Amino acid sequence: MKISILVFGSCNFLATLPDQIRDENAFRIELIDNFNHAIARIQVAPPDIVIVQASIDGSMELCAWLKEQAKLSWIYCILLEDRAEFLEKKIASAESDWEWETDMTAAALRQGADVYIFWLVVHGRSQISCSQIAACHRLLVAQLTVGLRKAHKYRDLVRTNDLLSAIALSDALTELNNRRALEWELPRLIQKSRQQGQYFSLIILDVDFFKIVNDTYGHLVGDRLLQLLCTRLRHNLRFQDTAFRYGGEEFVILLSNTDCDEAISVAKRLNRVVGSEPFQIDPQLSINVTISLGVACLQAEDDIKGVSLLHRADQYLLEAKALGRNRVVADESYAYKPYLHVVS
Ligand code: GH3
Ligand code: MG
Ligand code: MG
Repeated sequence: MKISILVFGSCNFLATLPDQIRDENAFRIELIDNFNHAIARIQVAPPDIVIVQASIDGSMELCAWLKEQAKLSWIYCILLEDRAEFLEKKIASAESDWEWETDMTAAALRQGADVYIFWLVVHGRSQISCSQIAACHRLLVAQLTVGLRKAHKYRDLVRTNDLLSAIALSDALTELNNRRALEWELPRLIQKSRQQGQYFSLIILDVDFFKIVNDTYGHLVGDRLLQLLCTRLRHNLRFQDTAFRYGGEEFVILLSNTDCDEAISVAKRLNRVVGSEPFQIDPQLSINVTISLGVACLQAEDDIKGVSLLHRADQYLLEAKALGRNRVVADESYAYKPYLHVVS
């Protein structure tokens, strides 16, 4: 894994950094010397490590800004002190005045840096020896190793987090999104539709007489049928439709940017593709099932969480069952008012 480093400083400053950071197999370096450009770049492509030249305009502000960004605070910020007056003082103070140096370090850390290093490398005076410069380089390389360790840990955490989220939000049997995912997604899509002035519709569907399948062939066959059914549903949805397993053999489909007419067409198509062909459980066994569907379209009076919308679709589903199953019942589309409208 390459570690990305943003150097906030001048070209001359970059030239003072140890050769190791130019190892293209290990690091990807970018140089920026303007505060606003640096912020814009970090927001678009957050680096693992930021090395800041203290003498450049906006250096402290950048350290402080980084730590204020909750989503970026993991970036390891190394502040290199190259301001002449402080380097002079550091050299002049020798070993006795550790208090001043400690205070400087504390102030830099308070501002948001993770590390503060006196960058004696840039000091022009002759009393800086080659071995002192080499020591500065060693310290910076050691800090880069710390940054690298942090970056590895952070990326592992993100990966684990993504995996856990995927597990938590998906249904193990059908691999569809589960009900918890629906509870996240439904309010989000309702809000988005309202903000963008778009239609939004919802389908709820339930397999007809599914208990008979279980009772006749056993639960394993029932499970397999649900998997095949979900695959068929998925293949017959448009890219903007998202399917969720709502409960046992009940599914919800969210249809963004979809008015009632279109939602009814989607529901009718699903009704047709499920009922028209049997599901091949194994070479010897194929089973026919049908589904009943309720369709509701978002209206001004619906609540932001989607409870009333879901409830309305569920009522239509019950109505479809009561009317004999294997059909779609929906909101009446043209008046855009919720009253019962039997479609098929
Ligand atoms: P209806 O047309 O009224 O919906 O009839 P139904 O038989 O489909 O409805 P009912 O609610 O009586 O039965 C649903 C059945 O679905 C009962 C339950 O055991 C079964 N079921 C729920 N989840 C699963 C599952 O994950 N696997 C299997 N095999 N069966 C399931
Ligand atoms: Mg059922
Ligand atoms: Mg059911």
